[in-house]
Amino acid sequence: MKPAAFQYHQPTSVTEATDLLAEYEHDAELMAGNQSLGIVMANRLATPEHIVDINGLDDLDYVDVSTERVEIGALTSHRTIETSTALADALPMFPAAAEQIAGPSVRNLGTIGGSIGEADPAGNYPTVLTALDGDLHVASTDGERTVAASEYFIAYMFTDLAEDELITGVSVDREPFPIDRTGMAFLEQKPAAQTWPTISAAAAVRVDDPDADAPAVDEARLALANAADVPLRVEDAEAAVEGESFAETTLASAAEAASEAAEPGEEMHADAAYKEKLAGEYTRRSLETAYERAVDTTDTTGITDTTTP
Ligand SMILES: Cc1cc2nc3c(=O)[nH]c(=O)nc-3n(C[C@H](O)[C@H](O)[C@H](O)COP(=O)(O)OP(=O)(O)OC[C@H]3O[C@@H](n4cnc5c(N)ncnc54)[C@H](O)[C@@H]3O)c2cc1C
Repeated sequence: MKPAAFQYHQPTSVTEATDLLAEYEHDAELMAGNQSLGIVMANRLATPEHIVDINGLDDLDYVDVSTERVEIGALTSHRTIETSTALADALPMFPAAAEQIAGPSVRNLGTIGGSIGEADPAGNYPTVLTALDGDLHVASTDGERTVAASEYFIAYMFTDLAEDELITGVSVDREPFPIDRTGMAFLEQKPAAQTWPTISAAAAVRVDDPDADAPAVDEARLALANAADVPLRVEDAEAAVEGESFAETTLASAAEAASEAAEPGEEMHADAAYKEKLAGEYTRRSLETAYERAVDTTDTTGITDTTTP
């Protein structure tokens, strides 16, 4: 099927784009990489009268890493994030999540802003931002505002973003994640390559002293994708490992907490009970991997994560 007819707009600035959104509000849809929008429009699940193509907003294509924070522009492609050595050195969960999205053609065109705009609870960056307590920056004709990821994802594919707002970028504070004491992992279980995950787990672990005999966990972060209607932060799993040196018992408690917290929907390849089990298992694996990376001072990157088919 072909998309329904629409009027096409190509703004060259954020102001022009937000003016268009304010003018056409309910009848307008932003287009970034068009990797998701194109599919829903081709199937006529969305029939916007106006398409606002933001690919001309070059100012929104950036990765900025300072000592305080990481900032990524909304138009930054998955491929750019996947291959950014600055991100791999600062917050390796981002490239690890990016490299596991679909195949190369989707990663070349798809953007982080599109992924967050889509707000699929199975999405990789929504889960990363939930785990790392990230912020989203949005603009409208009323000005700019910042919204915490924890408040942005409200219900299934429903967010705090108003119809006349545009995501301009995301940011994450680096202070909780000193790379010499922190390990990160983003692990997925997928039914097939290049498709959406059945469950993903994003974990970060900071230890007190990586050179100690049994380093204790100062702080842990754990979020799951596709385990509920929104990206799911599991604070009980974090609490199960915080203050402890890793052992099978603490990992088992964390896994149990994640299975209990998960409220997954059923899908073709996985019923809810199976996904609850996977939530526990991927919590265990991702926390263990993050811990191993935190205590191994020679491995500071998370970009070697690979999908488990
Ligand atoms: C086969 C396949 C497998 C995939 N697997 C995964 C996966 O495993 N994990 C994963 O995370 N993703 C996956 N994706 C989705 C992929 O990441 C998309 O690229 C992404 O979700 C949408 O990005 P886009 O730039 O193409 O956005 P578009 O398709 O252009 O837009 C998507 C939505 O976001 C809105 N939007 C776009 N930009 C903005 C903005 N700046 N501000 C506000 N709203 C905006 C649009 O209006 C639209 O509603 C998959 C896609 C495909 C086709």
